[in-house]
Amino acid sequence: MRSTHVVVIGSGFGGLAAAKQLAKSNIETTLISANGTHLFQPLLYQVATGVTVGERIAPPIAEVLRRRRTVDVVTGYVTEVDAERKVVTYATADGIEQIGYTYLIVAAGAAQAYFGHDEWADRTFALKTLEDSENLRTRLRAAFDAPAEIAARTVVVVGAGATGVEVAGQVAELARRFHDDAEIRIHLVEGADDVLPFYGGTLSGYTLAALEKAGVTVHTGTFVTAIEDDVVTVKDKAGAEREIAAGTVVWSAGVKATPLAGVIAEATGCETDRNGRLLINRDLTVGGRADVFALGDMTNLNGLPGQSPVAMQQGRHAADIIRGKTGPGTHFRYLDKGSMAMIDTPHAVIQPPLGLPGLTGIVAWAGWLAVHLYYLAGMGNRVAVLRDWLRAFVGTARPGFTATAALPDGAPTVTVGAPEAGEELPGGLGVAGAPDGPRQVPVA
Ligand SMILES: Cc1cc2nc3c(=O)[nH]c(=O)nc-3n(C[C@H](O)[C@H](O)[C@H](O)COP(=O)(O)OP(=O)(O)OC[C@H]3O[C@@H](n4cnc5c(N)ncnc54)[C@H](O)[C@@H]3O)c2cc1C
Repeated sequence: MRSTHVVVIGSGFGGLAAAKQLAKSNIETTLISANGTHLFQPLLYQVATGVTVGERIAPPIAEVLRRRRTVDVVTGYVTEVDAERKVVTYATADGIEQIGYTYLIVAAGAAQAYFGHDEWADRTFALKTLEDSENLRTRLRAAFDAPAEIAARTVVVVGAGATGVEVAGQVAELARRFHDDAEIRIHLVEGADDVLPFYGGTLSGYTLAALEKAGVTVHTGTFVTAIEDDVVTVKDKAGAEREIAAGTVVWSAGVKATPLAGVIAEATGCETDRNGRLLINRDLTVGGRADVFALGDMTNLNGLPGQSPVAMQQGRHAADIIRGKTGPGTHFRYLDKGSMAMIDTPHAVIQPPLGLPGLTGIVAWAGWLAVHLYYLAGMGNRVAVLRDWLRAFVGTARPGFTATAALPDGAPTVTVGAPEAGEELPGGLGVAGAPDGPRQVPVA
């Protein structure tokens, strides 16, 4: 069995930041990624609405890290961690492999949560993986071309956090600017009393007004109680129920940790919260172990938000402890640089840090574009996305719609859940074993 100084699990924001930081001290590192790409999740909704195309936001992680010569990239799905023996087991296209480590950093992200209604996974479109966004794009295209009946041309978005607002706003823009004859109806359903409840106040008020002006029907203080074929049932806080005929339902209402969190909890004795996220220590270590770190969306540290800056800063913090730049046990301190959400062109909101007043309108919209372009991996991707934005937001094209393939039955092809024994794993990872083999479709 081979071994390395640090094993990093996950090639998202946290894993990538950790690997880059470790490379600064030439520390021998192996990064294990389930799908072999670095997915820029904040632009998934733009792939779904045809603004850009998938390959621009999901470059191969080996390509992103090619100049970091001390980082080895492996495509594999981690199934087990033995914290006593310091061994990670993972499934690859060639079979089961093992690797020993001195330190382990786990950044395996989050999956969708359906509040006890896992059957809704098959009736809704998620927005977590590239496949999710491409499936939704195919469905939206079909909705615009559908016969003029209400259900086929109605989209319900569940959850008015940043993702839900961005999806609803961009579908509305798509309908208004590119298919004004299609009479698309868009409903946004949110259990809290505000859209973007994390922001509140004037920014939530501005977002609500912009969405309504764009033609989105917003239902705040309202919960989804049933999702059946072409019908979504919602109930408001007063108990009034109504049915919305809708052929397309986008789920952006909740997340839970990926299954690896359970594996780590079991291996280290770490507690989890009700969403399965690891309740890590303040120095990002897990349970009683000083050699295992966990971070990002799969963890809960004092309620820090599930956002990319948290994962990136935590990745760098864990790496700094390992490379001796920060003392063992040093508490992680999050530097809040603010939050932002796009609504449609040219409307967005920015909540700056330190209680500074929020920004709205074209200034926030331009700020959103600039920040997301900056954090996108690879200069070539940045140039290509900028070109797509010019074509989509200033011009009259939707570059992603030229790449849309037909979906056999119009239903999502990727759902959160365990593959059956013998089922082919995505990404060429072979066949699921039973019962101890890989347990879930890898998420990006
Ligand atoms: C649609 C959408 C929009 C968003 N918009 C924003 C935004 O505008 N701003 C913002 O700050 N944040 C945004 N976020 C949140 C942000 O993307 C996450 O907070 C961030 O990706 C978390 O990073 P992470 O490293 O913890 O997990 P991820 O980036 O999800 O990475 C997890 C990695 O672990 C891998 N993995 C999982 N299980 C295994 C396994 N068993 N073995 C091997 N590898 C595994 C996955 O393949 C993946 O590479 C958005 C999220 C979504 C879904």
